[in-house]
Amino acid sequence: MSIQHHPDDATLMAFAAGTLTEPFAVVVSAHLEMCGQCRKTSRTMNDLGAAMMQKADAMKQHMADMNAKLQTLVDDMNKSRGSAKVDKMQAVINELVSQRSMMQKEMMDMQPQMMHHMMEHMQSGMMKGMADSMAGCPMMKHMTPPAAPEPK
Ligand SMILES: [Zn+2]
Repeated sequence: MSIQHHPDDATLMAFAAGTLTEPFAVVVSAHLEMCGQCRKTSRTMNDLGAAMMQKADAMKQHMADMNAKLQTLVDDMNKSRGSAKVDKMQAVINELVSQRSMMQKEMMDMQPQMMHHMMEHMQSGMMKGMADSMAGCPMMKHMTPPAAPEPK
């Protein structure tokens, strides 16, 4: 691979994720040593990937905590009788509602990162076709495109 031939985003992404086959990875890493442009792209992908992973881990932990809390409340509710049960039910519902809005807030916080990531795909997509670029991205596979942003 010469300096004129840059690996595409999907390849750099796979390299960052460590999923490239050995010969490919050697070629890409050799290219990265020569090419500051791809090195920059690759570093951005690494940072973004690490940030996403961290966020995903934090969210997983948070969700486990919320589930545990909810389970405790539900157990309480199931054990209660009479008017006490109504109070416990109220506690469960309140917890559900507050968890729901917390989740929504966390999703909103994810948006800017996601949008930034999408923009990078779009930039490379101008030349190579966005569909190809997206198809190679492990992060995008499970995502549906976000709704069109509101005009400013
Ligand atoms: Zn390059």
